[in-house]
Amino acid sequence: MSTKYGRVFNFSAGPASLPLPVLEQVRDEMVNYKNSGMSVMEMSHRSKEFDEILANATSVTKELLGIGDQYEVLFLQGGASLQFAMLPMNLYQTGKPVDMIHTGSWSEMAIKELKKGYEMRTVYSGESNKFTQIPSFNEDQFNPSASYAYLCSNNTIEGTQFKSFPKTAAPLIADMSSDFLSRKFDMNQFGVVFAGAQKNVGPSGVCMVIIRKDLAERGDEKLPTMLQYRTHVKAGSRYNTPPAFGIYVAGLVMNWIKTSGGLEALEKTNEMKAKILYDTIDKSGGFYSCPVAKDCRSLMNVVWRVKPNGQANEDMETAMISEAKKSGLIEIKGHRSVGGMRASIYNAMPVEGVQALADFMVQFQKKNG
Ligand SMILES: *Cc1c(COP(=O)(O)O)cnc(C)c1O
Repeated sequence: MSTKYGRVFNFSAGPASLPLPVLEQVRDEMVNYKNSGMSVMEMSHRSKEFDEILANATSVTKELLGIGDQYEVLFLQGGASLQFAMLPMNLYQTGKPVDMIHTGSWSEMAIKELKKGYEMRTVYSGESNKFTQIPSFNEDQFNPSASYAYLCSNNTIEGTQFKSFPKTAAPLIADMSSDFLSRKFDMNQFGVVFAGAQKNVGPSGVCMVIIRKDLAERGDEKLPTMLQYRTHVKAGSRYNTPPAFGIYVAGLVMNWIKTSGGLEALEKTNEMKAKILYDTIDKSGGFYSCPVAKDCRSLMNVVWRVKPNGQANEDMETAMISEAKKSGLIEIKGHRSVGGMRASIYNAMPVEGVQALADFMVQFQKKNG
């Protein structure tokens, strides 16, 4: 397969593909950003140029989400993983257990941090179905006086995704690391949404946190300064040196989303891409099998097993991974904790890449089925 610059189709779960036009722009601006005489990596985070980069990244985020000044957009470090600790630190209120929806490995990580000294109540756990299902929720399943309710919108490892979000009286918080800005959603339903950038939005090193202003003020002022949301709100994400290059690239990615038609257009494309793979799996007569219930299959991370005789065949899966690689289709191995196969098809994965993978899957079945 010949592609521009000899690039592969990269199905990695993260860090993941970036839009080619963004990479080209970064290349063009690399050594002399807009006549500043230097690269973004070299410039002061207090410079006029960086002021504009940060202002653009913030305003395009708000524009894509359709939110106003009741929310703050923060660009933090420590990845999505630091948020697992920062959220309870800042938002937990004594005697008001957190309502948790447990849908897989990443909500597990959030629970692990919560258990270090906060109370929680499990609203739902998918453990008994091995996290292959997500039910829909009613408001009366939630405690209105919880400190907050928490969910992970897209389960990167298990390949499940919330198709709609519950209504809760307590502030709703979502880890959207692996589906942020991949579809339309109503931010006004949420108190906080956070996402490590390295899946849908940019390079690693930046975590985007969209937080309602009043919640940013909830934390105890005795908490370490760097771990208080209000610090970063007050300083506009520049209390210390921010991940400047990552913020710059994330801004370009969001500009690209906007010029490609915004979240609505992107959602349509993402639905089409996912359908190509799920159809290939479902029409394989059982050779490929997706363990996830149809009503909650992820548009971002498509997981499947190779079952030539009704049983998952790991040797054949290993062969599939190495043969795909020879065709320029890389990183289709499932997460080590669940095994099998996984193709991550975030915003930047073009339809052609998904089609190439589907064609490869059909050929692979012909040879081995
Ligand atoms: C990748 C991922 C994380 C972890 O992100 P880091 O930035 O590496 O800390 C958390 N939650 C979800 C849903 C993820 O996909």
